[in-house]
Amino acid sequence: MAHINSGKILHEFERQKVALIARKLQDTRLIVNTSGNVSIRIGNYVAITPSAKDYQLLEPSDICLLDMSGEIVEGKWLPSSETGLHLALYEQSDECQAIVHTHSIHSTAASMLTNELPSIHYQMADLGGAVPVAPYQVFGSPELAKSVTDTIKGHTAALMENHGSISFGPTVEKALSRTVLLEWCSEVWMKAISAGAPNVLTADQVEQAKVQMANYASARSKCECGKH
Ligand code: 13P
Ligand code: ZN
Repeated sequence: MAHINSGKILHEFERQKVALIARKLQDTRLIVNTSGNVSIRIGNYVAITPSAKDYQLLEPSDICLLDMSGEIVEGKWLPSSETGLHLALYEQSDECQAIVHTHSIHSTAASMLTNELPSIHYQMADLGGAVPVAPYQVFGSPELAKSVTDTIKGHTAALMENHGSISFGPTVEKALSRTVLLEWCSEVWMKAISAGAPNVLTADQVEQAKVQMANYASARSKCECGKH
């Protein structure tokens, strides 16, 4: 059957979401100017922010739709320079269905002070415990993609040395909430180390927090009426 152009764009809902999250990151100063990037996986496709475009002006049709090899399926701009990194993370883990990368202030600062953000708070259980720092490689390179994919294994977030943060999740909302959490933990850690030597949770305490958080999340996903 001949393709009829109805004026609709492919995967408009997800592309709208990518644009909304990118704007939210800028509005909350987790990114400045056009730094950072956001993507959502939709089966064999990925919707990703275009490279170096003003987030405030993004329409769904400005968000690039790619296949898993990085070929453009629909879109008028060059996709993010970190497309290779996003695709490598999607290939590595099925738990990764959306990705947020930022140059947020405290995560970026922490990335140049340590090779691991220690488990200083129980909420870090949601990030897989202590957050590793991926060794520096130039932005947009296959070497950076390898550094991050190697480092992030077993975690849902990583810091990128002298660069920023990266978080993923089953939804873009979860990837965003992990980005916010990592930024907060980085800020708390820097406040603590500037005042003294912070206590760090043990591996057992992190495991205990993971169990408690799973129970916490499942109890709160049920409706109080008991029917849902
Ligand atoms: P893009 O605008 O190409 O996504 O680059 C921003 C960035 O953060 C590179 O690491
Ligand atoms: Zn970056």
